[in-house]
Amino acid sequence: MRLIPLEIGQIDMHMGAVTGDDETRRFPIPSWLIEHPQGLVLFDTGMHIDLQSSFDRIGAETAKTITPVFSPGEELTARLAERDIAPSDIDRIILSHLHFDHVGGNEEVPDARVIVQQSEWASAHDQRLIDYGVYNPADYDHGHEVEQVEGEHDVFGDGSVVCLPTPGHTRGHQSLRIELESGPVVLTGDCVYFESMLDQMQVPTIGGERSQDQQRDSMRYLASLRDDGCRLLYGHDLQQFNALPAEGMR
Ligand SMILES: [Zn+2]
Repeated sequence: MRLIPLEIGQIDMHMGAVTGDDETRRFPIPSWLIEHPQGLVLFDTGMHIDLQSSFDRIGAETAKTITPVFSPGEELTARLAERDIAPSDIDRIILSHLHFDHVGGNEEVPDARVIVQQSEWASAHDQRLIDYGVYNPADYDHGHEVEQVEGEHDVFGDGSVVCLPTPGHTRGHQSLRIELESGPVVLTGDCVYFESMLDQMQVPTIGGERSQDQQRDSMRYLASLRDDGCRLLYGHDLQQFNALPAEGMR
């Protein structure tokens, strides 16, 4: 097996609701390519290609704190082509959650089966959340075959790629454990944006009290995996991401 980081653009994000700091930080937007003997998998798909020319498709609320930094040639299809992979070669898309910067590339990979937590799929079709701009069906309603899972899910039945529910950031957020030859790795998704957030247990103030409690529990869970020797790869950690080998990890 091999795990390869793909960068589908970047975003500038104001940190007020995350760390409480009045500053804007630049984040990578990853899509993770997993080569498994039974097929190619993506964990998250990055941003929609239209965001290279217009920010209209992200909600007004989101646009207050987030600005995409996204150029032609950085979209998912182009990143795959750099590795001689056609979109039709991708068998499965596993989604941490359905925010715009994690699911926007789905449209470019129409033949893959999407794997998502049932509660996340439900949230993403909650009209209230759509109206508020938290979710945009134009990012994920493209007629994919969708496998809605509940709780831990062993994707290939061999323990090598396992969905781990880590709710809080959203109701149905999940992380992904991958058993590489070099040891277990967990892709945290947005449960942890970057390492210092986990070290300092900075629970974002977005999403209300109940989800903050959930978020704290999920962060503690990932910290316990790290204590047990799992390598955590964070959702938006520029320093960590830039240090990853382009040829991937085995
Ligand atoms: Zn998110």
